[in-house]
Amino acid sequence: MLVLENIHTHYGKIEALHGVSVEIKKGEIVSLIGANGAGKTTLLMTVCGDPQASSGRVLFQGEDITHKPTAQIMRSGIAIVPEGRRVFPGLTVEENLHMGGFFTSKQEVRRSQDHVFELFPRLKERRNQRAGTMSGGEQQMLAIGRALMTKPEMIILDEPSLGLAPLIIKQIFEIISSLRDEGITVFLVEQNAKQALKLADRGYVLETGRIRLEDSGANLLANEDVQKAYLGG
Ligand code: ATP
Repeated sequence: MLVLENIHTHYGKIEALHGVSVEIKKGEIVSLIGANGAGKTTLLMTVCGDPQASSGRVLFQGEDITHKPTAQIMRSGIAIVPEGRRVFPGLTVEENLHMGGFFTSKQEVRRSQDHVFELFPRLKERRNQRAGTMSGGEQQMLAIGRALMTKPEMIILDEPSLGLAPLIIKQIFEIISSLRDEGITVFLVEQNAKQALKLADRGYVLETGRIRLEDSGANLLANEDVQKAYLGG
């Protein structure tokens, strides 16, 4: 479904990704783990065309999207939940959701919203609450809900558990797992390597702009090097 072929991405003269290849099949959850500064966010954002790869190709459902504008990529069936849950704090839950569905018709927005409320009853209860007054976990649910408004084929999540309490993290991972049950392909970046690999069908380890390991989630969890570097021994 998503193929990254030998991707190099630069910030000015500095190369952040040095030839990264990744493949994600339809219906999979794939987790990307790696230390701070390894280039995880850069990799996700390269899929979204901001920044664009300086060489290599990004293919989504067989189509070359490497040099497409971000808005067009988003319309082609990829949704991103960026790091830091960027919801609009002054807008209500419902208004935030409508921002996610801006390019669909009113009826479609309504249908998508009903679907998001089925997945997240908590958001339905709080539909008129301003997003900025909600807890971190609720804001993360809203950020995911907003991404789902476009009915994506694939959802990309950048550090969805960052800064959340353990119980809430568990809920967020359950939600991610339910996205796969809905037929949505998931590409997940996480510092929380243990949970991310438990959940994942497959995983990649990114180190300083290069893929070091690629395997099933279970094999990566059992891998000694992965345990030492990312799972606290
Ligand atoms: P973290 O987990 O800390 O977010 P990461 O694995 O997501 O890290 P990136 O944010 O992709 O890593 O950063 C990869 C490298 O690119 C780092 O050396 C970073 O300093 C650099 N970098 C990231 N964004 C920019 C930018 N806008 N301009 C210049 N350099 C950048």
